[in-house]
Parts: sequence; structure tokens; C-alpha cells
Amino acid sequence: MRQSKLFVPTLKETPADATVASHVLLLRAGYLRPLAAGIYSYLPLFQRVIRKVERIIREEMAAIGAQEFFLPALHPAEIWKESGRWEVMGDNMFRLKDRGGRDMCLGMTHEEIFTAIARDELRSYRQLPQVWYQIQTKFRDEARPKSGVLRVRQFTMKDAYSFDLDQPGLDKSFEDERRAYCRIFERCGLSYVAVDAHSGAMGGSASTEFMVRTDAGEDDVVHCASCGYAANVERGESRGPSSAAKGGVAGPTKAFPTPGVKTIEDLARPPHGKPPEQQLKTLVYWADGALVIAVVRGDDELNEAKLQTASGAQVLRPAHPEEIQAALGARPGSLGAVGVRAGEQEKIRRIFVDRTLAGLSGMVTGANEDGFHLEGVDVARDLAQGTLADLRKARAGERCPRCEAGALDVYKALEVGHIFKLGTKYSEALGAQVLDAQGKEIPIVMGSYGIGVERIAAAAVELHHDADGIRWPASIAPFHLSLLPLQQQDAAVAQAAEKLYEDLGAAGIEALLDDRDERPGVKFKDADLVGLPFRIAIGKKSLAEGKVEWKARGDAQAELVPLAEIVSKAKQALGKAGAFSIVG
Ligand code: ATP
Ligand code: MG
Repeated sequence: MRQSKLFVPTLKETPADATVASHVLLLRAGYLRPLAAGIYSYLPLFQRVIRKVERIIREEMAAIGAQEFFLPALHPAEIWKESGRWEVMGDNMFRLKDRGGRDMCLGMTHEEIFTAIARDELRSYRQLPQVWYQIQTKFRDEARPKSGVLRVRQFTMKDAYSFDLDQPGLDKSFEDERRAYCRIFERCGLSYVAVDAHSGAMGGSASTEFMVRTDAGEDDVVHCASCGYAANVERGESRGPSSAAKGGVAGPTKAFPTPGVKTIEDLARPPHGKPPEQQLKTLVYWADGALVIAVVRGDDELNEAKLQTASGAQVLRPAHPEEIQAALGARPGSLGAVGVRAGEQEKIRRIFVDRTLAGLSGMVTGANEDGFHLEGVDVARDLAQGTLADLRKARAGERCPRCEAGALDVYKALEVGHIFKLGTKYSEALGAQVLDAQGKEIPIVMGSYGIGVERIAAAAVELHHDADGIRWPASIAPFHLSLLPLQQQDAAVAQAAEKLYEDLGAAGIEALLDDRDERPGVKFKDADLVGLPFRIAIGKKSLAEGKVEWKARGDAQAELVPLAEIVSKAKQALGKAGAFSIVG
């Protein structure tokens, strides 16, 4: 491609609202333009990157025998109502009506649609397993679109679905997909960690997320360097707080006045002086239409995902102050679970108590009367109606749940892929069954597997850039190299560049020929910003000696290479860097 014919609107200034590297650089280097919050136009350079990521994904899907489909993005509401997710997806779902007034939505994922095909078409165990996928646009009305294409409202996902007869079949499909994901990320130049994850609205028994360590991510990963244990903090466990709980003296519970006390910190200060480790924090949540209570230690943070898992709720949100007042008779600040009855007929459906509180006594909690607290709380005695569960957020420095030795590290990460063992949740909801070998109808056992195409590209920029611009991994760079004639007006230079451009093309190398009449400084600067993995510069002086300059994007110094050898040098370097497809 000739740069004079390629639309690359680079920017000198950093756009005001861009903070993370991929957002800044993809705008500045002319890859993207915003249309609205979380909605982007892909300019020619970015479209080429996307195509390359998709090609790698297609090759790896083919390698595990997955078959490519293309399903609609526009869905009737009915199918989402059948699975129950018309409600569960809440405000994240883009909803619309057709001209007949029928409810429709834009697909945010495709479990329902693929399962409907399986229901209508698969009859016998002999047709299983099936692995189906597509690469398609998804729409999600994210609460906070941000960071360029890292979190957008319209994006491209490769989503795959496996259909098996039984659990061992699912285990194999899941493992195939997991290995394919590892290869995809490796080939796209991403270092990643596979972590235990929370399944959320997707449901199912187990899931693994693929995380790229970067401050641009919005997830937290709990990691043990000693044994390699890694989990999303939503799931991550530890052996409990590093500081021991400070239970007070055991005895009967006793109310005491705490006027004006609203927080754990208020109660820790004089005149009360109850340290956070001696307090119980009581939180009330709305879970699928009923209220539940969660109790954690005063200095701990409740992990909502864990409460969702413990309660089995599809939709979970903090209860509103009026809902809490109506159920417990007090406002947040004086809440407690002591003496609260829980059950189907009660205002509170269930009470969950963090498992690290088991056995503690002499604790302090709200009295469910504004301005009063209780002391002398014995968890086993006074919260016996509660269910013990892991509810607290694991913290850095705590001991690893798996090995004895390690201390946990917690770091920011970006989710690039997520794979789920769904089991029979969707096949049962939609009635997707097959006849097994005994002629009995059984629900198909499913898995679902998602990977974000733009997010892979942007994650690569997060990991590979410097002050001058992007440093694309060769496999997904929009072109393989920049070819820079440094004096475009010089006939010998221009001719040599043209010839080399043709020779490179004939060798299967995608060169971006900067044939603009610009100063060398401008060409170098733009080439660094755009970030192709290699650069060939042709200057008058060295050309007279039959040489050209060769430089990898990250190298400090260029190397002079005989013109006659440059094509094979480029081919070799690109091959080593993984630039070429594994097929064809
Ligand atoms: P997140 O927790 O980041 O919102 P998710 O759990 O909603 O992600 P999945 O539903 O598992 O994501 O989707 C599969 C993949 O699609 C993700 O791993 C990610 O790569 C990509 N993805 C999801 N939401 C977005 C988004 N809003 N913008 C860009 N990519 C996304
Ligand atoms: Mg999401």
C-alpha cells in the first residue's frame, strides 16, 4: 500500500479525554475515530488489524473443528424471555420495537439463538458433539464506556458454543477451547493469565477468564507467585485476613447508645473505641425480588459476586434505604442481623455470614434501632440463623488458599476472553434435547466461549508501545513494515523504493511505502507512531553504496543491509516474529 493513497489522519496532540495508552495511540496514529460514547469508526489501519486478529481466531477455531456460523444481531424478545434473560440483562440490553410494536433487542451474546438452533435441529446423540461459532457484532449499553475500544457499546466478539451429550464431553470441548484461546493470545502477542472466574448472568458451573495484566484493565486478579493460583478477585479466596479479629469479652448481648454513628470508622473513634476488626458490617441486598443480609467483618469489604454465588441470585443490587427501613426498622449505620428472622415468609429471605467470622464472640453490631449498637455478640449463638459462606474480598498480602507458603498479590487486569461450562441451563430453559443411546430424551450439555476482537487489538497496544507510538506484534500489525524513501524527489531513491516495494510484495510481505514528499524526520516520526514491526529506509548516500537501512521498531540503531539481501532478511525476520498465517 502507498501511504499517499492511504487514509491515516494522525494527530499531533493527545486527545483530551483519552488516558490509557491504547486509546491515545489508536486515535493519534489514525486508527480510530469516535462517533458517540463507546461507539467508534474503524479507519483503514484498524480494520486491517481487526481482520488479522479475526484470521488468527478463525485458524485456531478450525484447528479444534469448530464450524463458523453467522447469526442475526437483531433478536425478537421472545427467545430472551424463554431463557429468563430479558429481565436479567437489565439496562445493558439495547431494546427497540419493530413497526408492529413487537419487542426486539440487539444481541449482547448469543446463547439463546445458538441453543434455539440446537433445539430445532439436533435430535440424536449421534449428532454430538457440535462446536459452533461466529465472529459478529455485539451491542451492550455499558454503564461506563471508557478507554477507547477497551469498553465500548458496539464491538466484535468471537463467540463459540459447544453441544455435548454429557459432562465428560463438555470437559473435552472446554479444554479444546481453552487451549485454542491460549494459542490465540500467544499468537496475538499477549501475555496473559488464565484465572478462575465468576459466571455471573451467564450461569453454569465453572468458568475461566483470560486476563492481561495492565493498569488499563478494570478487573482485579488475585495471584500467588509461589504456586500460580490465580483468580478474579470476584472469585478469589484467601486464608482470611492477616490481622486477627479482636473479639471482646464474651457475655450476653447488650445495647448501647451510639448517637450520630453512621460508619465503621465513627464507631472505632472515641468515645466508643470499637476497632473495625471487632465490628460486624451488615449489608442488605435486593436479590431477585427478596431481601438478603450479608455480614462481614468491619474492616473487610463485601464481594458482591460472592454474595451472588452464595444466594444463587440472578439479579443482585444494594437495597434502597426505604427497603431497608421497611424490613429492619433502621437506617444504614445502625443495622445488624442479631434477632432478625429469615425465611420465605419473613421480610428478610436469607442471612449470609462470612465464614471467617465463625467462632468469634464479643463482636459489635448495629441494633436495628437508629443510634444504637449491640456489644457482646457471639456469632455462633446470635447469628445461628445465618449461612456461613465466603463473602469477603481477598486482599494483597493474605495467605494463598491453595499453598501454605505464598502471600497473595492483587493486580489490575483486562479481561480478553471468558469461557464457561454452562451445563444444561440454556438447553433446559429452551428445551434443547437429544435422544441418548438408550432412546431417552436428555438435555444437551453446553459450553460457551467468548473473546473480544477489538479488546485483543487494544490490549496488544497496552502491552506494546513506547513514547513514540505503537509497537505492534508482527502477527496483527496492519502492515509488515514501513518502507521509507528518504528523498522522494531523488530519482534513484524513488526508483529503488518502487522496485523494492514490488519485490517485497512478490515475497508476500505487506510494505507500507511512504511515497509522500515529506522530510525524513516526518516519515520516521509517523512510522514510529503507526508502529509497524520493521522499517526499511532508503537514503541517497547509502543507496549509492548499494545499501539500505533496516531496523526493528524497538531497536535503537538501524543496520545497513545490502539491497540485494533485504527481501530475504525481511522475510526471515517477519517469519520469526510470527507475521505469517499458519495456513496457506
Ligand atoms: P467485562 O467484565 O469486561 O464487562 P464480560 O464479562 O461482560 O466482560 P463476556 O460477556 O464474557 O464479557 O464477553 C466475552 C469477551 O468480550 C470479553 O472477554 C471481552 O474480551 C469482550 N467484551 C465484553 N464486553 C466488552 C465491551 N463492552 N467492549 C469491548 N469488549 C468487550
Ligand atoms: Mg460486561
